[in-house]
Amino acid sequence: MSHLFYQGHGRKPVLDQARGVYMWDTDGKRYLDGSSGAMVCNIGHSNANVLAAMREQMECATFGYRLHFETEASERLAAKTVEKMPPGLNKVFFVSGGSEAIESAMKLARQYAVSTGRGSRWKVISRSPSYHGCTLGALAVTGYRSLTAPFAPMMREMPKVPAPRAYLDGRDPEDPATGRHYADMLEDLILMEGEDSVLAFLLEPVGGASTGALVPPAGYMERIREICDRHGVLLIMDEVMTGAGRTGAFLGCEHWNIRPDIVVLSKGFAAGYAPLGGIVAPDWMVAPVLDQGGFAHGFTYAGNPLACAAGAAVLDEIDAQGLVENAALMGARLKARLHALAQKHEIIGDVRGKGLLLAFEFMADPVTKRPLPKELRAFDRFVQIAYDNGLIVYSRRTRDGVEGDHILVCPPLIVGDTHLDEIVEGLDLSLSQFRAELPA
Ligand code: PLP
Repeated sequence: MSHLFYQGHGRKPVLDQARGVYMWDTDGKRYLDGSSGAMVCNIGHSNANVLAAMREQMECATFGYRLHFETEASERLAAKTVEKMPPGLNKVFFVSGGSEAIESAMKLARQYAVSTGRGSRWKVISRSPSYHGCTLGALAVTGYRSLTAPFAPMMREMPKVPAPRAYLDGRDPEDPATGRHYADMLEDLILMEGEDSVLAFLLEPVGGASTGALVPPAGYMERIREICDRHGVLLIMDEVMTGAGRTGAFLGCEHWNIRPDIVVLSKGFAAGYAPLGGIVAPDWMVAPVLDQGGFAHGFTYAGNPLACAAGAAVLDEIDAQGLVENAALMGARLKARLHALAQKHEIIGDVRGKGLLLAFEFMADPVTKRPLPKELRAFDRFVQIAYDNGLIVYSRRTRDGVEGDHILVCPPLIVGDTHLDEIVEGLDLSLSQFRAELPA
C-alpha cells in the first residue's frame, strides 16, 4: 500500500536503472526514454562526468545558505549560463524548478517596474493554450482551463491571447501575414487592457506540452518584440522546456534572433540530475531593484551547491558532446521520419516541432482537422500502448477551445541513428495497434 498520490493514472512499474537513453524497471523490462522524462533528461541518464562532478561537490559541501556564503558551484554555473545567453542578459537568479522560475521572472519584472516609477503595470499577458507551472502565480498565466478552474477564486487570472495555431485555422505558417495576424492580437489586447497596466508578455518560443511543439508562424516572434517595445511591455521567454539545446539552439528564441528581456530556464538546465531552475535578466533591470533594497523574493534552496554543480557539469557535457548541434541534426532526421509515418498512418493529421522538440497530432479527418472523439482518450491510450512496447512518449489533449490529441517525441539529445530507428519502429507498431482498436 503506497502513501504517495499523484494526478491519477494508477500505479506504474518501479524504476530500477537508467543509462543513456534507456530505463529499466525492477522486472527487467527495458524502455527507450523517447520523452526525456518530461523533456528534462537532455543529456541522457547516468552521465559519468555529471555524477563525478556531483560526487566531488558532495564531498565538499551539499548546502550553504545564500545569505551566509557564496559558493564556487553557483558562481561557476552563473558564469557558464551567462556565456550562453544573448548579449546583455548577464544576471542569474537560481531556483529549484520551472514554476519557481516563472514566479521569479514575474516578480522581478514587477519589482523593476515599481523601482522605476511604473507601478501601474502588473498584468502579465500569456497565451492560450499554454503551460507555465502549477504554483498559483504560474497558474494565473497558464492557459489550461481544466488546470486553472478549481483554483480560480484563489488567484488573479491574467489576460490571454490565442496561441498561433495556424495549422488549425487553415493559415499558411510560412506567410508573414499569418505571423502578423496572431501577433497583432497581442497589441489589441494590450490596448484593451490599457497599456499602462501591462507589465509583460510571457511565451514559449516553441510550444511545449500545451500546444504540442507549436512552431510560431513566419514573422510572429519579430512582430511580438516590436509590439512589446512599442508599448513598454517586457518580454519574458519561458525556455523551461526549449532551453539547454532542446530545439537545436541553446535557447529556442535564437531561431528568430529576437532579444528577450528575461529568460526562464529549468528542465534541461540540470537535465534531471538535480532540481534546478533559474532566470537570467539584464543589469538594467536588476540594478534598480538592488538599489532599492534588493529583490523581495527568494527560496531556501536557491543556488544549492549540489544542484549548481550538476547544472555546470550538464552545460559542460552539452558543449563537449556537441549536443545542441546533434539535436538539430537528429531532430531534422526524426521529423522527416515522423512525416513518413504520417503518410502511412492517416490518423496523424499534423507533424511539427524544432530540433528534438517534436510532436504529431491525431485527427479523425486531416482535411477538416476534426479531432478524434474525446471519449477515446487517444492521447492516454496511445502512450500506454507505446509504453507496453517499451517506448516512452509524452502526450496531452489540447484544451481551451480546441480539442486534439498530440504526442510529443522528445528523446535525449544524445540520440544517434540506431535510436531513431528504434523510436520509429516503436511508433509504427504502436500506431498500427492503436488504429486496430479504433471503432470502424
Ligand atoms: N514552463 C514550462 C514551459 C513547462 O513545460 C513547465 C513544466 O512542464 C513549467 C514551466 C513548470 O515547471 P515545473 O514543473 O518544474 O515547476
